[in-house]
Amino acid sequence: MSLIVQKFGGSSVADAKRVMNVASIVTDTYSAGNDVVVVVSAQGDTTDELVAKATEINPKHSRREMDMLLSAGEQISISLLAMAIEKLGFPVVSLLGWQAGFSTTSTHTAARIKTVNTERLRTELDKKNIVIVAGFQGINKYDNITTLGRGGSDTSAVALAASLKADRCQIYTDVEGVYTADPRKVENTKKLNEITYDEMLELATLGAQVLNNRSVEMAKKYNVKLEVLSSLTRVPGTIVKEVATVEKMLVRGVTKDTDVARVSILALPDIPGIAFKIFSKLASKDINVDIILQSVGRDGTKDITFTVQKSHGELAKQLIKETFDIPDEKIIVDTNVAKISIVGAGMESHPGTAAKMFEALYEINVNIQMIATSEIKISVLIDVQDADKAVSAVHAAFIPSGK
Ligand code: ASP
Ligand code: MG
Repeated sequence: MSLIVQKFGGSSVADAKRVMNVASIVTDTYSAGNDVVVVVSAQGDTTDELVAKATEINPKHSRREMDMLLSAGEQISISLLAMAIEKLGFPVVSLLGWQAGFSTTSTHTAARIKTVNTERLRTELDKKNIVIVAGFQGINKYDNITTLGRGGSDTSAVALAASLKADRCQIYTDVEGVYTADPRKVENTKKLNEITYDEMLELATLGAQVLNNRSVEMAKKYNVKLEVLSSLTRVPGTIVKEVATVEKMLVRGVTKDTDVARVSILALPDIPGIAFKIFSKLASKDINVDIILQSVGRDGTKDITFTVQKSHGELAKQLIKETFDIPDEKIIVDTNVAKISIVGAGMESHPGTAAKMFEALYEINVNIQMIATSEIKISVLIDVQDADKAVSAVHAAFIPSGK
């Protein structure tokens, strides 16, 4: 007998019909002789709607009250799913985050899981109950409800699988697995049978929507084998694990991220310590810097360009302007940019991968503004208008079409 954790995202429980569908997946797993713990997100766009309601009443609401509000979305879906399972005649109990033992840090709306006390869960499993747990939430040391940040239910599921030492952690979604690019936008994409944690982490961070990146980080840390699969069609999905079997594929995925701003600071003095001062200032305000480019110094000056998340572009500019007393026109923020990346563990031992990517972009006449590489990824910054055709061209260059 196995212990299986199953997670269902908001679209999988969006309405009564979908909830009944999830109930049948869960009870089939239980009937096959497994212990089942289920994590669910709020139905459909519930969380977005709750955010809108809060903003309507008081845009300056406290983060504590926001957590009180947002956690209600998952409370609705766990109880409805439990009722659906009762209807099918199976023993079931639903639990909020705190009842399921989730202790988190105190940071409201962006809390991190500290521990999962599995006592109650074990008791319920011993009673042969199917256990439904509210994703995305926990409790802090002051007994206040916390949430884990948007998309946090994946992390709840992985944390449960790790603490219960589950045999499997299945993440059900509305696509059939992890694809080489977004199948709704790019032609000839392929579903991957397997992918490594490191590759998945890069893909999740670089804009693939299928898994939350923190959940992949945690899965890697605790060696939780993940399976990403569809709640709508019952076919095998994608397994995420430490080592993936070698499919003949240099590049596993091509991603697009448009949540980017490029900040350029012109004519800085070409002396030691400048980069240090700028980037430590940004770090002190939690502004995450991604790609960095510094020009060669000429006539005693140099330029520094870097990218940040879109909402941090103006913030970074103001901060640098005020701290270093730089005139306005010497700091340029461009939000019409996109980051296109390729990811694959195979490229580490494959010279020429970057050249092939750049050639694909050259052939469709797309200009590269910045480049960043790591062992298993290459990212380029380009004009946002070129983003979709760039993804298609790069995908075509690396992923052979046909079955
Ligand atoms: N309901 C939350 C959100 O929409 C958590 C989740 O879906 O994972 O962000
Ligand atoms: Mg959601």
